[in-house]
Amino acid sequence: MSQLSESVPILYGRDSEGNLRHIDSVTNGEACGCLCPCPSCAQPLIARNNGSKRIHHFAHKRGTCAWSAEYIISVLAADILQKHHYMSFPELNYFDRIKGRIVAISQAKTLKVASATTKELSGRGAPEVMLTCGGNTKLRQFVLVISLLHPVSDAQLERLKSSGLDAIAFDLRSLLSRKKRELGKHFDRANVLAGFQEISFIADVLRDESGSCFEWLINAKRDDIDQINREDLTIWLIEEERRRDAEEKERERKRAQFEAVRAEERARRLQEEEKVRVEEERRLREQAERDAIRMRELVNQQQAQARDSFGRRWIKCEICGEVKLENEFQSYGGIDRINLGCCYECLRKSRVCGIQSSNQ
Ligand SMILES: [Zn+2]
Ligand SMILES: [Zn+2]
Repeated sequence: MSQLSESVPILYGRDSEGNLRHIDSVTNGEACGCLCPCPSCAQPLIARNNGSKRIHHFAHKRGTCAWSAEYIISVLAADILQKHHYMSFPELNYFDRIKGRIVAISQAKTLKVASATTKELSGRGAPEVMLTCGGNTKLRQFVLVISLLHPVSDAQLERLKSSGLDAIAFDLRSLLSRKKRELGKHFDRANVLAGFQEISFIADVLRDESGSCFEWLINAKRDDIDQINREDLTIWLIEEERRRDAEEKERERKRAQFEAVRAEERARRLQEEEKVRVEEERRLREQAERDAIRMRELVNQQQAQARDSFGRRWIKCEICGEVKLENEFQSYGGIDRINLGCCYECLRKSRVCGIQSSNQ
């Protein structure tokens, strides 16, 4: 028999007749004559229902066992559902891997309960509630797994799956955390755990159409859709990759096309520039040739400077007779010899130039 580290108050004991008895319906103390209702524990209980300070509860003589609270809630839930005849089912949904979000398969709904009993399916310390639902429609069986202190382990889930039935978790642990948040410093864990065992509370939660404590644990329809979605995702990913590849190729093709057009344009522009350049060179050469001819004539008169169409001044060397630009002359100019001078070349050759510069 496993024990809990905390002392969980329980509200029901089993009397000598085998019936569940509420704490307020028994004699105080050991005289209550009740045993822990959980069959794997069944130790004598002490009724603490005298005081007004502490909540009325049964205490275990040798410390609280692990499953008594969940055992009581399971048995009471089965009883309530059997009498109440209705059960709220949570929304059924799945995570769509392609859409990247949760998608509803069917809305939360209330089904008529034909029968509700407890049965040990998963090997947990508390039994599951076996529900047979459907009024006018075909009867279907569901499993309700109640958690207060113990989450459903993977091994328990596997055993539940092997039953082939759809299962819903009735998880009061989320409600316990919510109460803790809501009550803050007024949160009394033992008190809340005891309150969760009250018939009125369990009935309210089972009737809660928002189904905040319910969650599909196992659902064959969801598994099927999930499997299809998994396969669809594989196909989608392959198609997506193909699409991306095609897009990339198309981008590459357009880029190459664009590059080719640009290269063509650049070549054409260069060709045109080259043509202009050659044309300009030819024009300048011809002009220079025309100027040279004209300058050779012009330097022979001494009334005006000989300047070509570029504004450059030309001089005739009186020694070698060549007509050259003024920067090639050591000296030139003067009255009646404005376009005459002595070039550097002749100066270098003779080191003596008979004509003195008079115009610097
Ligand atoms: Zn016990
Ligand atoms: Zn010269």
